[in-house]
Amino acid sequence: MTEGNARRRVAVIGGGAGGLAAAVAAGGADAEVIILEKANRVGKKLLKTGNGRCNLSNRHVSSEGYNRPGFVAPLLGTFGCDALVDFFASIGLWTVTDGEGRVYPRSDTAASVLDVLRLAAAERGVREICAAEAAAVERHGRGFVVRTREGGEFSADRVIVSSGGGTALLRPLGHAYVPFSPALCPLRTDPEPIRGLSGLRVKCRASLRRDGREVFADSGELLFRDYGVSGILALDLSRYALPGDELALDLLLETDRAALREKLEARRSLGRAGAEGLTGVFHRRINEALVRAAGGTDPGALAEAMKDYRLRILGPGDIHNAQVTRGGAAVDAFDPLTLESRLVPGLYCVGEALDIDGRCGGYNLHWAFASGLAAGRSAAE
Ligand SMILES: Cc1cc2nc3c(=O)[nH]c(=O)nc-3n(C[C@H](O)[C@H](O)[C@H](O)COP(=O)(O)OP(=O)(O)OC[C@H]3O[C@@H](n4cnc5c(N)ncnc54)[C@H](O)[C@@H]3O)c2cc1C
Repeated sequence: MTEGNARRRVAVIGGGAGGLAAAVAAGGADAEVIILEKANRVGKKLLKTGNGRCNLSNRHVSSEGYNRPGFVAPLLGTFGCDALVDFFASIGLWTVTDGEGRVYPRSDTAASVLDVLRLAAAERGVREICAAEAAAVERHGRGFVVRTREGGEFSADRVIVSSGGGTALLRPLGHAYVPFSPALCPLRTDPEPIRGLSGLRVKCRASLRRDGREVFADSGELLFRDYGVSGILALDLSRYALPGDELALDLLLETDRAALREKLEARRSLGRAGAEGLTGVFHRRINEALVRAAGGTDPGALAEAMKDYRLRILGPGDIHNAQVTRGGAAVDAFDPLTLESRLVPGLYCVGEALDIDGRCGGYNLHWAFASGLAAGRSAAE
């Protein structure tokens, strides 16, 4: 509460995943909450998440899936996947979990997630003000004034910055920023090894190598594109990849080199030449690429190409398709449990506005929701 019996006034800057969660939590704790949103409606990005299905969390969510594990660990320790699923159940969202631990709304539509958040916010008296882009956050006595580009001026006791990646609203208040760059985006690779493969998917293990050393490895599905590779596995690799790195793909996880070579020797008796000799192993266009990489149909060379198919990374693919922004407000200036600034009491920063990014599969939305709820609760106290 502010002085006397007045309700705490909380201004939330940005009505995305983190901001809506913060507003619901603060409103639920009896604060008077406004959301200032620069777009003409809140939650636009949420509607695009998970290919329109919104992968909102993950059963396996843990600090190792983020760029700053030490900072996210305390909050994830108290607010993991079950807690988030319970929160959504409490505001009326039925969720389901797929075989890989990814949590989605039962309806399979991201719009349901936005709908329940907006309903819960409205029920708690939260006011949405759209087409209001915060341009400055200034200290004013013991509180704050938020000025918008449109000329608006809003006073608040507490401010929660949930403006996503790419804005440095807190710099004038003394907060350091880690430079922004795209993350979780497709990868551009040397065109020769992927010639003719665009549109094909492979299940594989991918090892990312730098100077002969493995930097990161994971298994999953890769989608070949005309410029390189995309798909969940490529997005996860992009968090670690640098131009000049090599990707070594094991395209036949279930078979080791010796057994594979034996099988390929046996197929020789069919007397088929070139890529025809591999009919039925992969898609025809992949068989052709393997024969090209092996320099012919020698079983040893073909087995090697299948177990260690090399692509050189040239850089990020289409950065407009990046799912998150790396960089943001440096985390050491924030309390990891409440997300309150250590420099400016009463100021909070959540979600992607902080220098936090996570792997694919619900990690980024989990962080946005968990940090938003924690900040909202604390701001209303
Ligand atoms: C295509 C796509 C698919 C994705 N799918 C998934 C997925 O399935 N699972 C997952 O975990 N993550 C996914 N992500 C990532 C996830 O959407 C983000 O990590 C998450 O939305 C971050 O939440 P946020 O609230 O911090 O920021 P945002 O959701 O980006 O919200 C920020 C809000 O602030 C507003 N804003 C910005 N500046 C200002 C300002 N100055 N004043 C007022 N308002 C402002 C913006 O308009 C926006 O509404 C996906 C991302 C994309 C692009």
